[in-house]
Amino acid sequence: MIATLTRASPARDNNSGLLDYVSPTRLNTWVSCPLKFKLRYVDGIKEPTSPSLFLGKRVHAGLEFFYRQIQAGENVTSADVSQHISDSWDEAVTAEDMQFASFDDEAALKCQTIGLVGAYLDRHDSKEGFPIAVESPLECPLIEPHTGADLGTALFGFVDLILETPTGMTIVDFKTAARTSAPLEISHEVQLSCYAYAFRHVFGATEQELQIRSLIKTKTPKVETHRYPARGDAHFRRLFAVIRAYLDDLQSNRFVYRPGWTCSMCDYRETDCRQWQG
Ligand code: SF4
Repeated sequence: MIATLTRASPARDNNSGLLDYVSPTRLNTWVSCPLKFKLRYVDGIKEPTSPSLFLGKRVHAGLEFFYRQIQAGENVTSADVSQHISDSWDEAVTAEDMQFASFDDEAALKCQTIGLVGAYLDRHDSKEGFPIAVESPLECPLIEPHTGADLGTALFGFVDLILETPTGMTIVDFKTAARTSAPLEISHEVQLSCYAYAFRHVFGATEQELQIRSLIKTKTPKVETHRYPARGDAHFRRLFAVIRAYLDDLQSNRFVYRPGWTCSMCDYRETDCRQWQG
């Protein structure tokens, strides 16, 4: 089936809006395929929200509610979080213009969302630390650590959770996944390095560790925590090499396709990508 794509206002001709800041999400999209990045962010062709993406966003919203209640010193239960997910569901469906094939499909996705968050909360360790940032914006100038060169733009993104523990700060990113997988650090490297770079600038401290907490959509939901050490010089050198290449593409308005395994999940595959002539 060919997905319906929505054509919105394209970015200004010289991509100046996109040069205002670099975000981990945009950067990761560009890394996976520069043409996909162009279609989404430069040409403004919006892909429909898939059930999987919608579930991921609702899981994030449920966890955000949970940690904000803790931040506020409230006693929050799993039932409170389930209720919040139910109460905010219809509004989110409208906001995302989410289309379900049937009422049963929608009910099943809501049930799966509540089940996944419930599985996370069942395993939640109340001694994990205090949430000092929940779904918080982090912004800082991009200054290359090893050269001092100012790239003339900012890094801006939202971090899911920062926990303050007796031994240091932990940066946490939540993900939903279809299956369990080995903790391949390199597949998350750009995102983790972005968070660490911005965190250090905003908080004036070095993270103790970074974590990816994956909520797995198996029949019986599972939760996996992958831990990564604080970022080192090499991580930031590599990150800035990627950012420089990304900015070069934006400035030259040249975006080359990058066919690979992610094409199977790309909504542009049979339409705009096919029309691309290099
Ligand atoms: S189908 Fe593949 S090559 Fe084409 S835009 Fe999508 S990810 Fe890029």
